[in-house]
Amino acid sequence: MAVVAQKVSIAAQHKYKLKKDDTVQIIAGKDKGKRGRILKLIRDKDRVVVEGANIVKKAKKRRNQQDRGGIVEIEAGIHSSNLMIVCKKCGPTRIGYKLETGGADSKVTKTRVCKKCGEAL
Ligand SMILES: [Zn+2]
Repeated sequence: MAVVAQKVSIAAQHKYKLKKDDTVQIIAGKDKGKRGRILKLIRDKDRVVVEGANIVKKAKKRRNQQDRGGIVEIEAGIHSSNLMIVCKKCGPTRIGYKLETGGADSKVTKTRVCKKCGEAL
């Protein structure tokens, strides 16, 4: 059973390629073409909150005397399949990984790279 557990953990690691503060481009939906910084990852829903993108208006209830309530604008999550990471050199790209063995202990390190130019992301 230990083997199965290990497989699951590798798959999960692979799924979440994006990180907070990454610059991404939206490739589908009403904000298509827009770029922004990742503010938050909603991992269990596979959604990403991107700064200034997918703004939705939400009615907010008045909770106390100071709170005026009304309409607030918030950034809603975008499904990760509608996003592409932006490489500083070549624009929207896909994420690849580079495995490197380095140091005295020959530890394998995994670096996120641009699939087009190989630059570290
Ligand atoms: Zn690149």
